[in-house]
Amino acid sequence: MSSDSNNNNNNWQPATQVIHAGAAHDDPHGALTSPLYQTSTFKFSSAEQGTSRFAGEEEGYIYSRLGNPTTAELERRMATLEGYDAAAATATGMGAIAAATMAFVRSGDHIVVSDAIYGCSFALFSEMFERFGVEADFIDLNDEGLLKKTLKENTRLVFLETPANPQLKVVDIEKVHAVIADRDIRLIVDNTFMTPLMQQPKRHGADIVVHSATKFLNGHGDVVAGIICGNADDISEIKGTTLKDMGATISPHDAWLILRGLKTLDVRMQRHCENADAVYQFLSGRRDIKKIYYPGAPDHEAQALMGKQMSSHGAVIAFELEGDEAKARYFLNHLRMIALAVSLGDAETLIQHPASMTHSPYTPEARAKAGISDTLIRIAVGLEAAGDIIADLEQALEACRVQWQQSA
Ligand SMILES: *Cc1c(COP(=O)(O)O)cnc(C)c1O
Repeated sequence: MSSDSNNNNNNWQPATQVIHAGAAHDDPHGALTSPLYQTSTFKFSSAEQGTSRFAGEEEGYIYSRLGNPTTAELERRMATLEGYDAAAATATGMGAIAAATMAFVRSGDHIVVSDAIYGCSFALFSEMFERFGVEADFIDLNDEGLLKKTLKENTRLVFLETPANPQLKVVDIEKVHAVIADRDIRLIVDNTFMTPLMQQPKRHGADIVVHSATKFLNGHGDVVAGIICGNADDISEIKGTTLKDMGATISPHDAWLILRGLKTLDVRMQRHCENADAVYQFLSGRRDIKKIYYPGAPDHEAQALMGKQMSSHGAVIAFELEGDEAKARYFLNHLRMIALAVSLGDAETLIQHPASMTHSPYTPEARAKAGISDTLIRIAVGLEAAGDIIADLEQALEACRVQWQQSA
């Protein structure tokens, strides 16, 4: 496949890129939508061709764990959207995080990680890395002095997520980058909550961006997948080591579904964000809501980065109910339309209880330190009519009010 046939116009606006960037235009029938190459392997025209493909002397596909035309199209599109020249699509978001980090550390190395990250990322860096002799320090990366003190001779990478689960804590990527810029330390950013349409970590110094494509990028709740974006050298290192030999490659079918999902990313994000604002307005007017964490709230720390690092607040809100864990559970059990499910970025509004669900891999001490209380609830606002989402929240809060009045 000649790369000239791929649309790679970096001058397009993101709303156009999500539809056209990296599209292959080599289908013999002129199909508008790129065909799905649902194949595990590729035929060589001769023994010589097979030999030269394995030797890397000739471009072309060999086997879908190593590369596939459908996957490659997704990789071109995501690389363009994040502003890098390459990308590697993976089987899950955790597959992306594991492959992107493990490619650059070895036993005896040290890494620094933001203290607010996804539960399984926390488990990967604290438990798995420890088994292989890689030491991780979890710190507040907004504390420049602390970061400087934590860095060691053998620090190989800094990993962060912003905004981060579940209270939407933000990290100023540029400030972190400034501290490590003159050292051989890779800065890796999990951009799942923002998508490249609302935040491009590369502009602020990130070397590598990872995503759970399961969330907004795919957007339809029917795929688990991930993506790693970076410069060509880093991506080829990842593809040639942790992806090739540990094998968390994406399935072509999932890549194809994400390409379909991406086409509506821009319009979906607008609706997600509008709906989140409406839900926030509703929650902030309730006396039975003790605290709200939402980057769009005037008093949230994210406001300092708004317009600078992030162009919008996203569609995830966390809040604490008045009362105890029993009441939080009663509330969750009385929702009718809103689905009690982890994940985010789907058409359906999803709600969950971080302490016992997404953040259960944290130790109780780590949870307390991160401020994840037993009454904290996270809502990932979907694409339904805002009024219907709010009506469901309201009736469940009313059910709680009645129940607690009776038991009082
Ligand atoms: C969901 C998620 C992950 C993990 O992605 P999977 O696709 O579930 O493996 C990583 N980081 C963030 C911020 C997530 O929300």
